[in-house]
Amino acid sequence: MQINELKKIFPGQVFVEEKILQKYAGDLWPRYLIQKRLGQKIKFPTVVFQPKTILDVQKLVQWANAHQIIAIVPFGGGSGVCGGATITQESIALDLRKLNQVKDINIVSHTVTAEAGILGPELEKSLNQKGLTLCHFPASFDISTLGGWISTRASGQLSTYYGSIEDMLLSLKVVLADGSLVETKLTPRTATGPSLNELFLGAEGTLGIVVEATCQVHTVPSVREFLSFSFQEISQALLAIRTLVQKEIFPCGVRLYDESETQVAFGETGLKVSGNLLLLTFEGEEAELVQIQQKIAQRILNKEGKDLGALPAKHWWEHRFDLNDQKMIQILSSEGMILDTIEVAAPWHHLENLYHSMKKAIQEEIIVLAHFSHFYLTGGSIYFTFVGNVEEKEALQKYDLIWKKAMETCLVSQGTISHHHGIGLLKKEWLKKELNEGWNVLSKIKKTLDPNHILNPDKLLS
Ligand SMILES: Cc1cc2nc3c(=O)[nH]c(=O)nc-3n(C[C@H](O)[C@H](O)[C@H](O)COP(=O)(O)OP(=O)(O)OC[C@H]3O[C@@H](n4cnc5c(N)ncnc54)[C@H](O)[C@@H]3O)c2cc1C
Repeated sequence: MQINELKKIFPGQVFVEEKILQKYAGDLWPRYLIQKRLGQKIKFPTVVFQPKTILDVQKLVQWANAHQIIAIVPFGGGSGVCGGATITQESIALDLRKLNQVKDINIVSHTVTAEAGILGPELEKSLNQKGLTLCHFPASFDISTLGGWISTRASGQLSTYYGSIEDMLLSLKVVLADGSLVETKLTPRTATGPSLNELFLGAEGTLGIVVEATCQVHTVPSVREFLSFSFQEISQALLAIRTLVQKEIFPCGVRLYDESETQVAFGETGLKVSGNLLLLTFEGEEAELVQIQQKIAQRILNKEGKDLGALPAKHWWEHRFDLNDQKMIQILSSEGMILDTIEVAAPWHHLENLYHSMKKAIQEEIIVLAHFSHFYLTGGSIYFTFVGNVEEKEALQKYDLIWKKAMETCLVSQGTISHHHGIGLLKKEWLKKELNEGWNVLSKIKKTLDPNHILNPDKLLS
């Protein structure tokens, strides 16, 4: 790669020092962390580039496209857990974190426009100063970016009411593989052909580089209430949640822990909880409205559930960011440890079967916990956590086997292989099976938009 040429064009923005390069070799994909622990050879990017303006991104992409052999791997917070930002060939790691300005907050239309590299707390701080909030709180809120959320179709902990990132996104600026800038129009809705926003949502840096976005925002809620219920059977709890959402009651936080995860998550809290634990959070601006919803929910859940009061749900709220990246890195640094999370989704009529089938398949290999979260009128998502200690030399083999079993079971049980973490390198193998003919359509779009394969090659759609 002509590094000196690049350095001349962008003085002070191109880095080649090994201690910098190694930080951009991959994201937080557990398999990659295990590989590092095993001392396996890791590919570093050839250079790291930090754009300060959108024009910098355009100029870099034009340069890379002209040289054809150079790949560009967009890097937001690097909190992805599927290897989407992992380096696989000679590449420029495009660190978007300096592109982090809030451009506009419109209090009349309730919108925020910000550059893609802004982190969750930076964006929320600006909004909160005006009494507003995006209401997008993934557990990785502190370490992930607006561009990363859009590129992975992320979903926050309060999505059941506020929606996921695709529901919040109104318009985008994206740099394409030829360096041109495409901008979609800011409008609450449009009927002007297929949605370009949708094309880039979840594209994981393979179709363009998201450089700016406008999202809808909410007034910071002034009232928050909690409910906790315990159910003997998972089927009773799922029926109660379905009844709730199909009566159009959408608490912002809905989490249902199965018996195994209830024990692990609450066993040492001093709270007396057991069974399948359902935690609900309601919030809003109008106390009356919040209380009415809470009352109706209580009536529905009381049919088969045991009312445990507000405390367990409040405990979850206060500790909802505790299981963070540092904890995950720490666990995975121990010899023999494997750990990962699998987030799938299905319509109501397949959801319970999906849970039982996947749980059975995974627990043939390792300990598995599960909770349900992110509910819809039509279904919900399941989040499995597998963890265990195995022979160090078999760690990767075991890890791969668990994923293979889980994904194949998911597909035959009518689930989608990802509710919100995305595909990356991890789930690429099963994406074709999930999309069928749709994969060919997306692949043609990729070839048209990026004929020289410079945008995050070897990943989604390759
Ligand atoms: C502890 C922990 C908890 C998590 N909790 C959640 C959760 O609750 N909900 C959830 O949805 N996810 C969660 N995640 C996963 C992760 O945080 C999300 O996928 C997040 O959206 C990634 O954002 P990022 O800025 O870190 O992106 P990165 O990891 O940097 O990148 C992710 C992918 O998007 C591409 N990309 C990044 N920025 C851009 C851009 N501007 N333009 C084009 N492509 C780009 C990258 O090349 C890569 O393919 C969690 C991860 C961890 C470690």
